Amino acid sequence: MTESAGRLGFSTRQLHAGAEAHGPHRPRATPIYLTAGFEFDDFDQGHARFAGTDDGFSYTRVGNPTNAAAERRIADLESGIGAVLVGSGQAAVATTLLSLVRAGDHVLSSSSIYEGTRELLRDDLARLGVDVDFVEEPNSPDAWEAGIRPRTRLLFAESIPNPKNDVLDIAAIAALAHAHGLPLVVDNTLATPYLVRPLEHGADVVVHSASKFLAGHGTVLGGVIVDNGRFDWAERTDAYPQLSQERGPDGLTVVERSGRSAFLDFARRTAMRYGPAPSPLNAFLILQGIETLSLRVQRQSETALKLARWLEQHSAVESVDYSGLESSLHHDLARRYLPRGQGSVFAVTVRGGRTAARTFTDALRIFTRMTHLGDVRSLVLHPATTTHVLRDSQQLAASGIGEGLLRLSIGLEDPDDLIADLDQALASVTAASLLREAGIV
Ligand SMILES: *Cc1c(COP(=O)(O)O)cnc(C)c1O
Repeated sequence: MTESAGRLGFSTRQLHAGAEAHGPHRPRATPIYLTAGFEFDDFDQGHARFAGTDDGFSYTRVGNPTNAAAERRIADLESGIGAVLVGSGQAAVATTLLSLVRAGDHVLSSSSIYEGTRELLRDDLARLGVDVDFVEEPNSPDAWEAGIRPRTRLLFAESIPNPKNDVLDIAAIAALAHAHGLPLVVDNTLATPYLVRPLEHGADVVVHSASKFLAGHGTVLGGVIVDNGRFDWAERTDAYPQLSQERGPDGLTVVERSGRSAFLDFARRTAMRYGPAPSPLNAFLILQGIETLSLRVQRQSETALKLARWLEQHSAVESVDYSGLESSLHHDLARRYLPRGQGSVFAVTVRGGRTAARTFTDALRIFTRMTHLGDVRSLVLHPATTTHVLRDSQQLAASGIGEGLLRLSIGLEDPDDLIADLDQALASVTAASLLREAGIV
């Protein structure tokens, strides 16, 4: 199945890729190997597992068969050569960065990224002596080029950032990165490999929060790192010495030992050392979620577009940021990169600022007030007072996140029920503002 999987369709592969028949009982589902470790047959096998000459499992922090099945399936869906599963999306981003930089190095990132990643880059990497700059125009190769320094080690961006659904021109930024001998790392959480596969457009490494669409049901956390195995880590000998210069006990560098898998093998070692191991139970639930990924994302994208169109013409709404709308500045990029749908997460700005946003949020009955996305249930969040609370008003204005902006993540409910819920919540906003204008409240 895995060998020919690349030629099968996406929906077939989300069910079958990476699966293998386990043991004598032939379970249909992937077994959950909920065990800390794995027995060695004898003295020599223990040595072989540690020396790397036997690729069997030894300890779940380093590898586990259930986790490995999830890694194979996600790598297949993303068109990568392999993957490393970790305990959360943040762990995937942190593991990638910690594998590629050292004190004195520099990272150049799009400014339009997940706030948790932004804080990791800005505060935590800075504390470790790594400089970070943010590119304010992430679709301008010139803007990226102006930020590149001799010690820049990677470019980082997201395929569909939230809440603005401002699609990345992956191929243009990947070409610029490669012209400077740098890898492009893309967080593909909101798009999922069903909507776009950044590795096919030139990105070198993809990371995900599997807690979102991949798992899909809002039950577990997970993260994953996928590599296409094409980036030449040895080309600039001074850039990634941990991969191309430092020699192990066998006298080889990671590049010499692992070839195309050099980055992934090193990332797995980084994860093993820092310890963000996923639970095999979570890996199972992520695999379970992936089995319906295409169906969910297709339906969620269709409903999101329907709702975005409906909201855009409503008198209580100031604006809607969704690349599926003809009014979006990112509509052309969406047509090019996201022809199957533009995802389920977008922003709606209600007229009346924070007061209106509060009335709207509290009036919703079907939408869940929650900081998560990619769930089967529809969710609502006010970024200015939650995820983006550490930003001052100037920074919020610069990223276009106003006081009236709400982030919606569209689930699998009946679209008409969601529209009715939005309708009554917007009616509450209108009624409240009329009462205020009349001086009644
Ligand atoms: C949620 C999210 C993360 C962090 O993932 P966790 O699983 O919550 O740690 C990273 N990037 C993006 C785009 C996300 O949406």
